[in-house]
Amino acid sequence: MIKFHNTLTNEIEPFTPLKAGEVSLYTCGPTVYHYAHIGNFRTFVFEDLLRRFLESCGLKVKHVMNITDVDDKTIAGARREQKTLREYTSFYTQAFLDDMRALNILPPVLQPHATNEIPAMIRLIEDLAAKGIAYRAEDGSVYYRVSKFEEYGKLSKKKLDGNIAGARVDNDEYEKEEGADFVLWKAAKEGEPSWDSPWGRGRPGWHIECSAMCMRHLGETVDIHAGGEDLVFPHHENEIAQSEAVTGKPFARYWLHAKHLLVNGEKMSKSKGNFFTLRDLFEKGYDAMVIRYALMSVHYRQQLNFTFESLKEAREVIEKLDNCYFQCLSRLQIGCRGTDGQLQLRQAVRDIGESLSEDLNIASALAILQKIVTEINAHLAQLSSASLRECIGFFEHMDRIFGLDVASVKEIPPDVLGVLAEYAEARKIRDFSKSDALRKEIGEKKWFVKDGRPGEPSTVKKMRRAWDIKK
Ligand SMILES: [Zn+2]
Repeated sequence: MIKFHNTLTNEIEPFTPLKAGEVSLYTCGPTVYHYAHIGNFRTFVFEDLLRRFLESCGLKVKHVMNITDVDDKTIAGARREQKTLREYTSFYTQAFLDDMRALNILPPVLQPHATNEIPAMIRLIEDLAAKGIAYRAEDGSVYYRVSKFEEYGKLSKKKLDGNIAGARVDNDEYEKEEGADFVLWKAAKEGEPSWDSPWGRGRPGWHIECSAMCMRHLGETVDIHAGGEDLVFPHHENEIAQSEAVTGKPFARYWLHAKHLLVNGEKMSKSKGNFFTLRDLFEKGYDAMVIRYALMSVHYRQQLNFTFESLKEAREVIEKLDNCYFQCLSRLQIGCRGTDGQLQLRQAVRDIGESLSEDLNIASALAILQKIVTEINAHLAQLSSASLRECIGFFEHMDRIFGLDVASVKEIPPDVLGVLAEYAEARKIRDFSKSDALRKEIGEKKWFVKDGRPGEPSTVKKMRRAWDIKK
């Protein structure tokens, strides 16, 4: 049974999708006004693990992630760089998609851009106005009257008369009439992009964007809505208020939130010099999968302290996985002599699935993975071709769940195998100058040679591709 922690109830609950066999998943996408930082990517990697795990359970996941390409920050950024909003946001949208691909994050089934969905936002505001919840203020902007929605605060557990008064968010500043009334439609300001609406020209507020896009593409009730913990209030609280006031139905059945990360024990900030984008880490020579592992390996509801030490540990694990996979592949292709194979791979797959079923218990799942890899390593020489094939299938399956891209090279090319055979021959007759030259030749083809222990074959391993994303 799959269980997730639901922020709405603050409990770990059994998860069943509304429609059998199919999960609707909405995750709040980036606001494309800068390069996303590793704190953002912790959330995106967690959501990717969530989706991969659900898919590994045989569920079809309809995943929608929006792109916020109009809000206060994007408009300010475009103005600063003297670009049109579209020019400015399409640059950072592309950068985001490149980063996602580098981290092996599965692309959403749909990725709506807010600026392409304005009519749906206007319709939703009209529905709210018809119910007397949205009102037009003197400044021409339209606001949500929070006091009209009794359940306001149910996600963040904030009380309207207590905590909310005076609350403000950085992302989309909001002005208020009563307590925490938030803006749905902002009246056009000189020099800002704007669209026609029944209330005059203007642009949507940030919160209405997600409500409209989520419901338009996934229906009035979505199975899972996820994001970073900083979105609980006001963004997700407001999404609930906007959507449920109109439909009278639950907007999202399960709310999953990832804790943000610390870097060297402190909140990331540019002034402290501990602020990193993915590109910063690539520049320092870290592999994308090492970064992915470091971001993924701490449970999503626990504080992740990101350090260079944690990257070093992640690198060791990735190397261990790579080494084991390529040992299996090399031995299979060279022609192994083993006859046995008593590995508990199926049991490991089941145990990993069970761990992840418990609110994505990643620590336990990765521990099982490491243990079985140690076991495979210990038995390599005895493994028959069938067992080696089974190991390769196991790594492929693990890639589908963890996305660490271990088993993406399916075959050692014949030319590499050919040189490897010559290499083994040269070593056998102790012609070391020849074997050195052949090792180099293999290196030029972007493969490493690993010498076998006495009686064991030498094997090869593919070098991981270097990520060279321009800054
Ligand atoms: Zn959102």
